[in-house]
Amino acid sequence: MKYGRTYNFSAGPSMLPEPVLEEVAAEVLNYHGSGMSVMEMSHRSSVFQTIADEAEADLRELMNIPSNYKVLFIQGGATLQFAMLPLNLLKNGVADYIVTGAWSKKAYSEAKKYGKINLLATSEDKNYSYIPDCSDLAVSPDADYVYICENETIHGTTYQKLPNTKGKILVSDQSSMFLSRPCNVSDYGLIYAGVQKNVGPAGMIVAIIREDLIREDIDARIPIYLRYDTHANNGSMYNTPNCWCIYVCGKVFKYLKSIGGLEAMNQRNIEKAKVLYDFLDNSKMFSGTVVKQDRSLMNVPFVTASKELDAEVVAATKAAGYDNLKGHKSVGGLRASIYNAMPKDGVEALVDFLTKFEAEHK
Ligand SMILES: *Cc1c(COP(=O)(O)O)cnc(C)c1O
Repeated sequence: MKYGRTYNFSAGPSMLPEPVLEEVAAEVLNYHGSGMSVMEMSHRSSVFQTIADEAEADLRELMNIPSNYKVLFIQGGATLQFAMLPLNLLKNGVADYIVTGAWSKKAYSEAKKYGKINLLATSEDKNYSYIPDCSDLAVSPDADYVYICENETIHGTTYQKLPNTKGKILVSDQSSMFLSRPCNVSDYGLIYAGVQKNVGPAGMIVAIIREDLIREDIDARIPIYLRYDTHANNGSMYNTPNCWCIYVCGKVFKYLKSIGGLEAMNQRNIEKAKVLYDFLDNSKMFSGTVVKQDRSLMNVPFVTASKELDAEVVAATKAAGYDNLKGHKSVGGLRASIYNAMPKDGVEALVDFLTKFEAEHK
Protein backbone atom coordinates (compact mmCIF):
# COMPACT_ATOMS: atom_id res chain seq x y z
CA MET A 1 0.00 0.00 0.00
CA LYS A 2 1.20 3.49 -0.88
CA TYR A 3 1.56 6.40 1.58
CA GLY A 4 1.92 4.03 4.55
CA ARG A 5 -1.78 3.30 4.35
CA THR A 6 -3.14 0.24 6.12
CA TYR A 7 -5.60 -2.42 4.99
CA ASN A 8 -8.53 -1.10 6.93
CA PHE A 9 -11.29 -3.66 7.55
CA SER A 10 -13.56 -1.18 9.34
CA ALA A 11 -17.33 -1.62 9.04
CA GLY A 12 -17.65 2.12 8.45
CA PRO A 13 -16.43 4.72 7.86
CA SER A 14 -14.22 2.61 5.69
CA MET A 15 -11.71 2.61 2.87
CA LEU A 16 -12.13 4.82 -0.18
CA PRO A 17 -10.52 4.09 -3.56
CA GLU A 18 -6.96 5.41 -3.60
CA PRO A 19 -7.33 7.21 -6.97
CA VAL A 20 -10.27 9.13 -5.47
CA LEU A 21 -8.24 10.19 -2.44
CA GLU A 22 -5.40 11.28 -4.70
CA GLU A 23 -7.71 13.45 -6.80
CA VAL A 24 -9.30 14.95 -3.71
CA ALA A 25 -5.85 15.71 -2.29
CA ALA A 26 -4.79 17.39 -5.51
CA GLU A 27 -7.91 19.55 -5.55
CA VAL A 28 -8.08 20.46 -1.90
CA LEU A 29 -6.47 23.89 -2.13
CA ASN A 30 -7.93 25.05 -5.41
CA TYR A 31 -10.76 23.17 -7.05
CA HIS A 32 -10.51 23.44 -10.87
CA GLY A 33 -9.25 27.02 -10.82
CA SER A 34 -12.11 28.28 -8.65
CA GLY A 35 -9.56 29.65 -6.17
CA MET A 36 -11.03 27.65 -3.28
CA SER A 37 -11.63 24.14 -2.02
CA VAL A 38 -15.04 22.49 -2.17
CA MET A 39 -15.15 22.86 1.63
CA GLU A 40 -15.13 26.64 1.25
CA MET A 41 -17.50 26.96 -1.67
CA SER A 42 -21.05 28.28 -1.70
CA HIS A 43 -23.55 25.54 -2.40
CA ARG A 44 -25.37 28.11 -4.55
CA SER A 45 -22.35 28.59 -6.82
CA SER A 46 -22.41 27.27 -10.35
CA VAL A 47 -19.19 25.35 -9.66
CA PHE A 48 -20.83 23.40 -6.87
CA GLN A 49 -24.10 22.99 -8.78
CA THR A 50 -22.10 21.26 -11.51
CA ILE A 51 -20.52 18.93 -8.93
CA ALA A 52 -23.95 17.99 -7.55
CA ASP A 53 -25.53 17.60 -11.00
CA GLU A 54 -22.73 15.35 -12.20
CA ALA A 55 -22.89 13.25 -9.04
CA GLU A 56 -26.59 12.64 -9.61
CA ALA A 57 -26.18 11.99 -13.33
CA ASP A 58 -23.33 9.52 -12.75
CA LEU A 59 -25.29 7.67 -10.08
CA ARG A 60 -28.31 7.48 -12.39
CA GLU A 61 -26.13 6.03 -15.10
CA LEU A 62 -24.40 3.52 -12.79
CA MET A 63 -27.67 2.17 -11.37
CA ASN A 64 -29.75 2.78 -14.47
CA ILE A 65 -32.27 4.68 -12.34
CA PRO A 66 -35.64 5.12 -14.09
CA SER A 67 -36.80 8.70 -14.68
CA ASN A 68 -39.76 8.36 -12.31
CA TYR A 69 -37.37 8.04 -9.36
CA LYS A 70 -35.81 10.97 -7.54
CA VAL A 71 -32.26 10.89 -6.22
CA LEU A 72 -31.92 12.76 -2.92
CA PHE A 73 -28.88 13.62 -0.81
CA ILE A 74 -30.01 13.94 2.80
CA GLN A 75 -28.00 14.50 5.98
CA GLY A 76 -28.41 12.66 9.26
CA GLY A 77 -27.24 9.18 8.37
CA ALA A 78 -29.23 6.01 7.94
CA THR A 79 -30.44 6.26 11.53
CA LEU A 80 -32.50 9.34 10.75
CA GLN A 81 -34.18 7.44 7.92
CA PHE A 82 -35.50 4.93 10.46
CA ALA A 83 -37.92 7.71 11.50
CA MET A 84 -38.15 9.77 8.31
CA LEU A 85 -39.42 6.77 6.37
CA PRO A 86 -42.51 5.98 8.42
CA LEU A 87 -43.21 9.68 8.92
CA ASN A 88 -43.46 10.12 5.15
CA LEU A 89 -44.63 6.75 3.87
CA LEU A 90 -47.31 5.72 6.35
CA LYS A 91 -50.72 6.49 4.93
CA ASN A 92 -52.83 3.64 6.36
CA GLY A 93 -50.51 3.69 9.36
CA VAL A 94 -49.41 0.08 8.80
CA ALA A 95 -46.07 -1.37 7.70
CA ASP A 96 -44.43 -4.81 7.74
CA TYR A 97 -40.80 -5.22 8.80
CA ILE A 98 -38.48 -8.16 8.24
CA VAL A 99 -35.90 -8.20 11.01
CA THR A 100 -32.66 -9.95 10.08
CA GLY A 101 -30.14 -8.24 12.36
CA ALA A 102 -29.19 -5.23 14.41
CA TRP A 103 -29.99 -2.59 11.79
CA SER A 104 -33.42 -3.79 10.73
CA LYS A 105 -34.23 -4.25 14.41
CA LYS A 106 -33.39 -0.62 15.12
CA ALA A 107 -35.44 0.51 12.14
CA TYR A 108 -38.35 -1.61 13.36
CA SER A 109 -38.20 -0.19 16.89
CA GLU A 110 -38.07 3.37 15.62
CA ALA A 111 -40.97 2.89 13.18
CA LYS A 112 -43.14 1.53 16.01
CA LYS A 113 -43.39 5.06 17.38
CA TYR A 114 -45.36 6.11 14.33
CA GLY A 115 -47.79 3.36 13.39
CA LYS A 116 -48.93 -0.25 13.56
CA ILE A 117 -45.70 -1.95 12.66
CA ASN A 118 -45.79 -5.73 12.17
CA LEU A 119 -42.90 -8.12 12.49
CA LEU A 120 -43.36 -9.99 9.24
CA ALA A 121 -40.41 -12.37 9.65
CA THR A 122 -37.27 -12.60 11.70
CA SER A 123 -34.12 -14.69 12.09
CA GLU A 124 -33.61 -13.73 15.72
CA ASP A 125 -34.00 -17.38 16.80
CA LYS A 126 -30.49 -18.14 15.50
CA ASN A 127 -28.82 -14.83 16.31
CA TYR A 128 -29.59 -13.51 12.82
CA SER A 129 -27.27 -15.95 11.09
CA TYR A 130 -29.57 -16.46 8.10
CA ILE A 131 -32.23 -14.79 5.95
CA PRO A 132 -35.71 -16.25 6.44
CA ASP A 133 -37.66 -17.66 3.51
CA CYS A 134 -39.53 -14.61 2.22
CA SER A 135 -41.29 -16.19 -0.75
CA ASP A 136 -44.74 -16.45 0.82
CA LEU A 137 -45.09 -14.25 3.88
CA ALA A 138 -48.37 -13.07 5.42
CA VAL A 139 -48.01 -9.50 4.15
CA SER A 140 -50.62 -7.21 5.73
CA PRO A 141 -53.33 -6.31 3.20
CA ASP A 142 -53.17 -2.66 4.28
CA ALA A 143 -49.37 -2.38 4.64
CA ASP A 144 -48.02 0.87 3.24
CA TYR A 145 -44.68 -0.82 2.67
CA VAL A 146 -42.51 -3.82 3.48
CA TYR A 147 -39.11 -3.03 4.99
CA ILE A 148 -35.81 -4.87 4.75
CA CYS A 149 -32.17 -4.23 5.54
CA GLU A 150 -30.66 -5.84 2.46
CA ASN A 151 -27.20 -6.38 3.92
CA GLU A 152 -26.85 -6.64 7.69
CA THR A 153 -23.52 -5.01 8.45
CA ILE A 154 -23.10 -6.51 11.92
CA HIS A 155 -24.49 -9.99 11.36
CA GLY A 156 -23.07 -10.44 7.86
CA THR A 157 -26.14 -11.63 5.98
CA THR A 158 -27.47 -10.53 2.63
CA TYR A 159 -30.59 -11.24 0.57
CA GLN A 160 -29.95 -13.32 -2.54
CA LYS A 161 -33.56 -12.86 -3.56
CA LEU A 162 -35.86 -9.99 -2.62
CA PRO A 163 -38.95 -10.81 -0.56
CA ASN A 164 -42.25 -11.41 -2.30
CA THR A 165 -44.11 -8.34 -1.02
CA LYS A 166 -47.36 -9.37 -2.72
CA GLY A 167 -47.55 -6.10 -4.57
CA LYS A 168 -46.66 -3.87 -1.61
CA ILE A 169 -43.91 -1.29 -1.87
CA LEU A 170 -40.47 -2.55 -0.92
CA VAL A 171 -38.21 -0.26 1.12
CA SER A 172 -34.57 -1.26 1.50
CA ASP A 173 -31.68 -0.08 3.64
CA GLN A 174 -28.73 -0.77 1.35
CA SER A 175 -26.15 1.10 3.44
CA SER A 176 -23.51 -1.61 3.55
CA MET A 177 -23.98 -2.95 0.02
CA PHE A 178 -24.84 0.18 -1.98
CA LEU A 179 -23.20 0.05 -5.42
CA SER A 180 -21.51 -3.27 -4.67
CA ARG A 181 -23.51 -5.04 -7.37
CA PRO A 182 -26.12 -4.26 -10.03
CA CYS A 183 -29.52 -3.34 -8.65
CA ASN A 184 -32.89 -3.27 -10.40
CA VAL A 185 -34.24 -0.03 -8.97
CA SER A 186 -37.80 -0.59 -10.17
CA ASP A 187 -38.12 -3.55 -7.76
CA TYR A 188 -38.20 -0.97 -4.97
CA GLY A 189 -40.28 2.00 -3.89
CA LEU A 190 -37.43 3.45 -1.87
CA ILE A 191 -33.76 2.56 -1.51
CA TYR A 192 -31.58 4.45 0.90
CA ALA A 193 -27.98 4.10 1.96
CA GLY A 194 -25.69 5.79 4.42
CA VAL A 195 -22.69 6.48 2.21
CA GLN A 196 -19.88 5.94 4.74
CA LYS A 197 -19.84 2.17 4.25
CA ASN A 198 -19.27 1.79 0.55
CA VAL A 199 -19.26 5.17 -1.13
CA GLY A 200 -17.94 8.19 0.72
CA PRO A 201 -17.31 10.07 3.95
CA ALA A 202 -19.85 9.90 6.79
CA GLY A 203 -22.72 12.30 7.21
CA MET A 204 -25.17 11.70 4.41
CA ILE A 205 -27.53 9.22 2.82
CA VAL A 206 -28.54 8.78 -0.77
CA ALA A 207 -32.23 8.06 -1.22
CA ILE A 208 -33.71 6.78 -4.44
CA ILE A 209 -37.45 7.18 -4.21
CA ARG A 210 -40.32 6.60 -6.63
CA GLU A 211 -41.97 9.93 -7.30
CA ASP A 212 -45.49 8.88 -6.36
CA LEU A 213 -44.25 8.07 -2.83
CA ILE A 214 -43.19 11.66 -2.24
CA ARG A 215 -46.30 12.98 -0.58
CA GLU A 216 -47.28 16.49 0.39
CA ASP A 217 -50.33 15.49 2.45
CA ILE A 218 -48.41 14.38 5.52
CA ASP A 219 -48.69 15.67 9.08
CA ALA A 220 -47.83 19.37 8.96
CA ARG A 221 -45.91 19.07 12.25
CA ILE A 222 -43.22 16.92 10.67
CA PRO A 223 -40.03 19.00 10.61
CA ILE A 224 -39.43 20.49 7.19
CA TYR A 225 -36.05 18.79 6.90
CA LEU A 226 -37.66 15.38 7.46
CA ARG A 227 -40.03 15.60 4.49
CA TYR A 228 -38.95 13.93 1.28
CA ASP A 229 -40.85 16.57 -0.71
CA THR A 230 -38.64 19.29 0.79
CA HIS A 231 -35.56 17.64 -0.67
CA ALA A 232 -37.21 16.57 -3.91
CA ASN A 233 -38.58 20.05 -4.65
CA ASN A 234 -35.27 21.76 -3.96
CA GLY A 235 -32.71 19.57 -5.68
CA SER A 236 -31.46 18.36 -2.25
CA MET A 237 -30.49 21.97 -1.46
CA TYR A 238 -33.37 23.33 0.60
CA ASN A 239 -30.66 24.18 3.11
CA THR A 240 -26.89 23.82 2.98
CA PRO A 241 -26.16 20.25 1.98
CA ASN A 242 -23.13 18.18 2.93
CA CYS A 243 -21.16 19.65 0.02
CA TRP A 244 -17.94 17.80 0.78
CA CYS A 245 -19.69 14.46 0.96
CA ILE A 246 -21.56 15.00 -2.31
CA TYR A 247 -18.25 15.93 -3.94
CA VAL A 248 -16.40 12.82 -2.74
CA CYS A 249 -19.33 10.53 -3.55
CA GLY A 250 -19.38 12.03 -7.03
CA LYS A 251 -15.74 11.09 -7.44
CA VAL A 252 -16.46 7.54 -6.33
CA PHE A 253 -19.32 7.30 -8.84
CA LYS A 254 -16.93 8.37 -11.61
CA TYR A 255 -14.35 5.89 -10.37
CA LEU A 256 -16.92 3.07 -10.49
CA LYS A 257 -17.84 4.04 -14.05
CA SER A 258 -14.15 4.03 -15.00
CA ILE A 259 -13.64 0.43 -13.86
CA GLY A 260 -16.65 -0.85 -15.80
CA GLY A 261 -19.63 -0.10 -13.56
CA LEU A 262 -21.50 -2.29 -11.11
CA GLU A 263 -21.19 -5.52 -13.10
CA ALA A 264 -17.39 -5.23 -12.92
CA MET A 265 -17.50 -4.17 -9.27
CA ASN A 266 -19.64 -7.19 -8.45
CA GLN A 267 -17.16 -9.54 -10.14
CA ARG A 268 -14.33 -8.07 -8.10
CA ASN A 269 -16.38 -8.37 -4.91
CA ILE A 270 -17.27 -12.01 -5.62
CA GLU A 271 -13.62 -12.92 -6.22
CA LYS A 272 -12.44 -11.00 -3.19
CA ALA A 273 -14.95 -12.52 -0.78
CA LYS A 274 -14.24 -16.01 -2.15
CA VAL A 275 -10.63 -15.74 -0.96
CA LEU A 276 -11.80 -15.22 2.61
CA TYR A 277 -14.72 -17.65 2.60
CA ASP A 278 -12.63 -20.42 1.04
CA PHE A 279 -10.11 -19.94 3.81
CA LEU A 280 -12.80 -20.01 6.53
CA ASP A 281 -14.42 -23.12 5.05
CA ASN A 282 -11.11 -24.98 5.12
CA SER A 283 -9.78 -23.70 8.41
CA LYS A 284 -9.90 -25.81 11.58
CA MET A 285 -9.47 -22.74 13.78
CA PHE A 286 -11.81 -20.18 12.21
CA SER A 287 -15.39 -20.47 11.02
CA GLY A 288 -17.91 -18.09 9.49
CA THR A 289 -21.05 -17.42 11.54
CA VAL A 290 -23.56 -17.16 8.68
CA VAL A 291 -25.20 -20.00 6.70
CA LYS A 292 -23.49 -20.31 3.34
CA GLN A 293 -26.31 -19.25 1.05
CA ASP A 294 -26.96 -15.97 2.88
CA ARG A 295 -23.39 -14.76 3.33
CA SER A 296 -22.59 -11.14 2.69
CA LEU A 297 -19.88 -10.23 0.20
CA MET A 298 -19.23 -7.06 2.22
CA ASN A 299 -19.15 -7.99 5.92
CA VAL A 300 -17.65 -11.30 6.98
CA PRO A 301 -18.06 -12.22 10.66
CA PHE A 302 -16.05 -15.20 11.90
CA VAL A 303 -15.03 -16.80 15.18
CA THR A 304 -12.60 -19.21 16.77
CA ALA A 305 -13.62 -21.71 19.43
CA SER A 306 -13.05 -19.30 22.32
CA LYS A 307 -13.36 -15.64 23.25
CA GLU A 308 -9.77 -15.63 24.50
CA LEU A 309 -8.42 -16.86 21.20
CA ASP A 310 -10.65 -14.38 19.32
CA ALA A 311 -9.10 -11.56 21.33
CA GLU A 312 -5.62 -12.90 20.67
CA VAL A 313 -6.24 -12.96 16.92
CA VAL A 314 -7.65 -9.42 16.93
CA ALA A 315 -4.57 -8.15 18.78
CA ALA A 316 -2.21 -10.03 16.45
CA THR A 317 -3.90 -8.72 13.29
CA LYS A 318 -3.78 -5.18 14.60
CA ALA A 319 -0.08 -5.50 15.45
CA ALA A 320 0.53 -6.80 11.92
CA GLY A 321 -1.17 -3.75 10.36
CA TYR A 322 -4.65 -5.08 9.60
CA ASP A 323 -7.00 -2.67 11.25
CA ASN A 324 -10.50 -2.86 12.73
CA LEU A 325 -11.08 -6.61 12.71
CA LYS A 326 -12.76 -6.86 16.09
CA GLY A 327 -16.28 -8.26 15.70
CA HIS A 328 -19.31 -6.37 16.96
CA LYS A 329 -20.15 -7.32 20.53
CA SER A 330 -23.48 -8.89 19.52
CA VAL A 331 -21.73 -11.50 17.38
CA GLY A 332 -18.27 -11.53 18.99
CA GLY A 333 -15.17 -12.86 17.30
CA LEU A 334 -13.91 -11.02 14.28
CA ARG A 335 -15.42 -9.21 11.33
CA ALA A 336 -13.70 -8.30 8.11
CA SER A 337 -15.54 -5.61 6.19
CA ILE A 338 -14.36 -5.88 2.61
CA TYR A 339 -16.27 -3.16 0.83
CA ASN A 340 -15.75 -2.03 -2.77
CA ALA A 341 -12.55 -0.14 -1.99
CA MET A 342 -10.78 -3.00 -0.19
CA PRO A 343 -8.33 -4.41 -2.73
CA LYS A 344 -8.14 -8.16 -3.28
CA ASP A 345 -4.49 -7.88 -2.18
CA GLY A 346 -5.73 -6.80 1.24
CA VAL A 347 -7.92 -9.87 1.64
CA GLU A 348 -5.14 -12.15 0.39
CA ALA A 349 -2.70 -10.61 2.85
CA LEU A 350 -5.16 -11.10 5.71
CA VAL A 351 -5.75 -14.72 4.74
CA ASP A 352 -1.98 -15.34 4.59
CA PHE A 353 -1.67 -13.86 8.04
CA LEU A 354 -4.52 -15.96 9.48
CA THR A 355 -3.13 -19.10 7.82
CA LYS A 356 0.23 -18.54 9.51
CA PHE A 357 -1.46 -17.74 12.81
CA GLU A 358 -3.39 -21.00 12.65
CA ALA A 359 -0.26 -23.01 11.80
CA GLU A 360 1.60 -21.48 14.74
CA HIS A 361 -1.21 -22.10 17.23
CA LYS A 362 -1.98 -25.74 16.59
C1 LIG B 1 -24.16 1.81 9.50
C2 LIG B 1 -25.54 1.42 9.17
C3 LIG B 1 -26.65 2.17 9.61
C4 LIG B 1 -26.49 3.42 10.46
O1 LIG B 1 -25.86 4.42 9.78
P1 LIG B 1 -25.61 5.86 10.43
O2 LIG B 1 -25.20 6.66 9.25
O3 LIG B 1 -24.55 5.70 11.45
O4 LIG B 1 -26.89 6.32 11.01
C5 LIG B 1 -27.90 1.75 9.25
N1 LIG B 1 -28.08 0.66 8.50
C6 LIG B 1 -27.05 -0.10 8.07
C7 LIG B 1 -27.31 -1.31 7.25
C8 LIG B 1 -25.75 0.26 8.39
O5 LIG B 1 -24.72 -0.49 7.96
